[in-house]
Amino acid sequence: MFIISAEKFFFWREKQLLKGGDKKSLNLLIDLLGGLSNNHLNFLKIRSEKNFKLKIKLESLEKFWDIHLRTSTPIQYLAGVSYWRDLKLEVSNKVLIPRSETELMIEIISGRFKNKDDQITFVDLGTGSGAIAIALALHNQHWNGIAIDIDKNAIEIAKRNFSNNANQSNLKFYVGNWWEPLQNFKREIDLAVANPPYIPKDIYKELPKEVKNFEPQNALLGGEDGLDHIREIVQYAPSYLKDKGWLLIENHFDQSSRVENLFHENKFTSVEVLKDFSGIGRFTIGRYK
Ligand code: GLN
Repeated sequence: MFIISAEKFFFWREKQLLKGGDKKSLNLLIDLLGGLSNNHLNFLKIRSEKNFKLKIKLESLEKFWDIHLRTSTPIQYLAGVSYWRDLKLEVSNKVLIPRSETELMIEIISGRFKNKDDQITFVDLGTGSGAIAIALALHNQHWNGIAIDIDKNAIEIAKRNFSNNANQSNLKFYVGNWWEPLQNFKREIDLAVANPPYIPKDIYKELPKEVKNFEPQNALLGGEDGLDHIREIVQYAPSYLKDKGWLLIENHFDQSSRVENLFHENKFTSVEVLKDFSGIGRFTIGRYK
């Protein structure tokens, strides 16, 4: 721990912002790398504390900030961690930084599985850092989860995230393409969730460089119209879901009616499009038959 005077710290923080970047990113850097969260900072301010404790020296923090300004590396990759819901997850450029809109998937699911005693088998297809799967496994200890990703590096990260955030064993991990590792679970899945790559090719090319230059292309790009992977997931879902099993998929801002049609074409019923906090039809949910 490094002790620094409050006065020096605030002066330093103002100086960093004059160099560029935005306050939110700087605060995240101070939190993730310096160990001083915004809430804690406000608390110290209210108590008129004269000194703050930091995990690393200001000079080191400044070096990270300069790299961020120079290269646009996302703060979460510089720190190797990201917040998502109440979790602190390890991330690297092998996994997408979990997005806040995806957090809603957990509420959508918990709203549909109200009976806490139900024992269900769920899968998270394309788990990345493991965010969705870990949150679901923690939501209900009776649930048995399977987290799948095509990238074995991602699975290693997801496994570590599970053991660092949970003290339970209701989540298994497999490397493979979408449903492929589930050959022994045919018609046994109660719930499948996925936040697959869904960005159309032309939009992908124009993504901001902090996304395009750093986040894994295979977690973002969904082919010409963005729907390549969603089509594959929906098409094969009937082989793995139980009758009345649920499928919930995140999609791009303008894809919901096409995804809704895909669900209908593959015999899904009770199909609904649900909005994210920005009012965008971001999630499609349905039941098999
Ligand atoms: N929501 C992410 C983004 O806009 C995309 C995630 C995805 O393709 N699944 O960067």
